[in-house]
Amino acid sequence: MSEKTFTFKEDWNIFFMQKAQLMSTRSKDPSTKVGCLIVSPDRVILSAGYNGFPRGIKDTPERLNDRDLKYPRVVHSETNAIINAVRNGTIIRDAIVFVTQPPCPECTKMLVNTEIRELLHMDLDENKKDLPGWREKLHISFDMLDEAGIPHKIIPNEFLFTQQELANIRARQLKGLEL
Ligand SMILES: [Zn+2]
Repeated sequence: MSEKTFTFKEDWNIFFMQKAQLMSTRSKDPSTKVGCLIVSPDRVILSAGYNGFPRGIKDTPERLNDRDLKYPRVVHSETNAIINAVRNGTIIRDAIVFVTQPPCPECTKMLVNTEIRELLHMDLDENKKDLPGWREKLHISFDMLDEAGIPHKIIPNEFLFTQQELANIRARQLKGLEL
C-alpha cells in the first residue's frame, strides 16, 4: 500500500477515529465494544454505528452474557453504520470509513460492495489476536479490500483514547442518568 492512503490531513483522521471510539461506548456488549463512523471526502459525517442487537430486540443480561444467544443477534458496527445510512437515505458510496477494529469478512463484503473510498481502522485488541480463526478472518478481509482496490490503514493507538479513558467517558455519560 502506498504512503498516500490517507484522504484527510492526519489530525482529521485522528479526530474521526476518536469519534468512532465514542460511538463504541454506546455498545452494551460486555466483551467487545466497536464503533464505526462513515465520513464524506469533504469531512461531513454521514453515518455511524456500534455493535448491538437490532432495534426492538432486548439487551437482556442473559443474552449479552451467553455467546450462543448473543452472536446470532448482534449486528456489527460497520453493518449498523451502513444500515443507518440506508435508513436515512444517505449515500455512502465513495465515503471514508473509520472503525475501531479491523472489519470481519462479512462487514468487509458490504463495505466493498458499497464501494467505499478508503478504510481506516484500529489494530485488533491484543487479547483477541490469538483467538482461533481471527487471523485467518482478517486476512480474508484485507485480501478482499486489496483485490477491490480499496486502501486500508491502521491508525496507531498512541493517538487515540485508551480503554481507561473510554471507561471514564462512559462513566461520565452514565452520570447523565442522575440529571
Ligand atoms: Zn463485522
